[in-house]
Amino acid sequence: MANKKIEVEVAEAFGREFVKGNLPEINPIRCLGCSNCVALCKKLGPNVLEIVDGIAKVVRPENCIGDGACMNACPTKAIFLMSRHDPKNPPESV
Ligand code: SF4
Repeated sequence: MANKKIEVEVAEAFGREFVKGNLPEINPIRCLGCSNCVALCKKLGPNVLEIVDGIAKVVRPENCIGDGACMNACPTKAIFLMSRHDPKNPPESV
C-alpha cells in the first residue's frame, strides 16, 4: 500500500479544526426541500446551502468547512456523503 500525502486547507470553527474541500452531496430524489439543512448551516455560520427549485443545493461551496452538520439535520438522509470536489463544480446528487 502506497502512502499518499495531500496538502489540505483547515478551517477553525466550534473550537475544532475541519478539513476544507469536502462538500455535501444532496440526493434530489430524497430531498423534501424542508430547509432544515439550509437553516442550520446558516445558523452555524458557513451558509453554504439554499433551496433552489424546491431542492437543497450547494450555492456557496467556498464557505463549506466540511463539518457535516447538514447531514444530521436532514430527516430523509438526502445528504449522505461529504466528498472532495472542485468548488467550481459542486455535486448535485449521489
Ligand atoms: S434537510 Fe434534507 S430534505 Fe431538508 S432541504 Fe436539506 S437535503 Fe432536503
